[in-house]
Amino acid sequence: MSLNRQNEKERIRAVIANTQPSSAHLLHILFALQQHFLHIPREAVVEVARHLDLPIAQVQSVVEFYSFFHQTPRGRYDILFSTCTSCGYLAGGGNLLEMLRQRLGVVADETRGDGLVSISETSCIGMCDHGAALLLNARPIVRVDMAKIELIATLIDAETPLEDWPADWFNVDDNIRSKGMLLNNEFSNGNALRAALTRGAEGTLSEITDSTLRGRGGAGFCTGKKWQLCREAAGAARYVVCNADEGEPGTFKDRVLLHSHTDTIFEGMTLCGFVIGAEKGFVYLRGEYRYLLPHLQDVLKRRRNRNLLGDGILGHAGFNFDIEIIVGAGAYICGEESALIESMEGKRGIPRVRPPFPVTHGYLGQPTVVNNVETLFAAAHIALRGSTWFKAAGTEESAGSKIISVSGDCAKPGIYEYPFGVSLRQILEDCGTSNVQAVQISGPAGTLISSAEFNRTLAFEGLASGGSLMVYGQERDILAIINNYAHFFAHESCGFCTPCRVGTTLIKKSMDKIFNGHGTRYDVDEIKRVAAVARQSSHCGLGKTIANPVLDGLQRFPQVFEQRLLHRDFAPHFDLDAALEQARQMSHRDDAAAHLGNLSPSPAGGTKEVSS
Ligand code: SF4
Repeated sequence: MSLNRQNEKERIRAVIANTQPSSAHLLHILFALQQHFLHIPREAVVEVARHLDLPIAQVQSVVEFYSFFHQTPRGRYDILFSTCTSCGYLAGGGNLLEMLRQRLGVVADETRGDGLVSISETSCIGMCDHGAALLLNARPIVRVDMAKIELIATLIDAETPLEDWPADWFNVDDNIRSKGMLLNNEFSNGNALRAALTRGAEGTLSEITDSTLRGRGGAGFCTGKKWQLCREAAGAARYVVCNADEGEPGTFKDRVLLHSHTDTIFEGMTLCGFVIGAEKGFVYLRGEYRYLLPHLQDVLKRRRNRNLLGDGILGHAGFNFDIEIIVGAGAYICGEESALIESMEGKRGIPRVRPPFPVTHGYLGQPTVVNNVETLFAAAHIALRGSTWFKAAGTEESAGSKIISVSGDCAKPGIYEYPFGVSLRQILEDCGTSNVQAVQISGPAGTLISSAEFNRTLAFEGLASGGSLMVYGQERDILAIINNYAHFFAHESCGFCTPCRVGTTLIKKSMDKIFNGHGTRYDVDEIKRVAAVARQSSHCGLGKTIANPVLDGLQRFPQVFEQRLLHRDFAPHFDLDAALEQARQMSHRDDAAAHLGNLSPSPAGGTKEVSS
């Protein structure tokens, strides 16, 4: 073995030695290696597999699955530019990204020759209330504009350490614009747990069930029922998992809760542990929010010191519970609860076949409650104030309040809390909008709403939302937004099942064709056919919703499609005449006879005759 290889192997072993030796920490081990080597060398995959006693193929497949891991070196300044509809398209992020690439001489997805810098695109990083945004070495930089792009390039070229960059660039504000029953109420640490101890586990479960609290991640399953099923399931151990992997474009409410209501969330997890009989909880934190990790660790430490975590919580013998944080590595699908559990176990985030559900067969095959951040936040308040207090707000089928992330074309983007039943019109008024063309509820997998429907209300029985509301002004090109979503789904499909893997690519290609003025009615029908197959036969929820933006667009904004369609039966994806351009140049011919007789699309969306 050469000296260099021996040296690399020793460095790999030194990095691994500083991490915890369990497959549950595989993502953390790989992240540490990525930080050290700016990629994950093949030798490291072998060493990690040996260290954890895992098949090499499993470690390799994990490296390949997560978009924050790389097999070739990234730059010492590694930039991921958000292409989310809100902080990308609506905030002009696309132009800024190109500016930065040109200014630094970086080709997309390639590391500059001197190894200094790399720039790639990434899906929503949860900074939609801060204008254009990017991650630099896993730290968010927000409110990016042309002036900042120039400064960023200058600082990188000068190889300025990040500690010497303007500190305020990294400041992420909460932007809480409107507080309701949860955000307004003071929360004294430990009081929800004291109330739970007074009621007992069964009494607390009854209180949560009576409150009719439903999961805030989007699916709306009854929280009390979920806790009960887990409590009653047979198992050697039980687990509580806080799903902090909010990846739906336009959603950032959990970021704010994790930052400013951390204790309440941890208390919600602890009382869930008390009810179901779990001694261990996990926060699965999305990789994009890694910058929150030191803060979360500090709060956990403080709670342990105050006997709010650990053994004999609040002096109650047998009440043992602690929390660990697992950080993801850039995979939207890990927001799906069974994919999240797979990821926690050190595997690719592929959704499991369900049933069985995680409440009976979850983490390590044991009964597991997976709750959204906001659900646990609400549960802690309910334990403290009671179900009657909670049910006093909201509607019959949707008790309590919903915290919404508002972004896009509005004067006051940020966090808004409303009782369920609030109208879209009210929200749009509060966040400072005028002349709104449409809003997108619950991200691309949700619903596109036109101005004719702004009286609709937010509720599980009305417009259900995981927490994202994006506003589109009149000047926005709805087709560009729909096309952006088609690209998003194609990028985020985990690739496990054919209808979704192939379907997302077909829809993306058809939408590109339509958006660029080459599409026909045939392409629209093709999207509908693909959507029907994907909805019927995809393995998980993502595949069932891949065409939602297109179908909503066709229903509510048919004119934006009509304006771009070629009015004939069919046009090929492939432009044969354009492909012959190189041959024409080589033969120095560009006369009419050197072109194919064809109808070529005009940019205006009509057709023009090309003579032959
Ligand atoms: Fe993966 Fe899509 Fe299949 Fe879900 S539907 S398992 S995201 S390929």
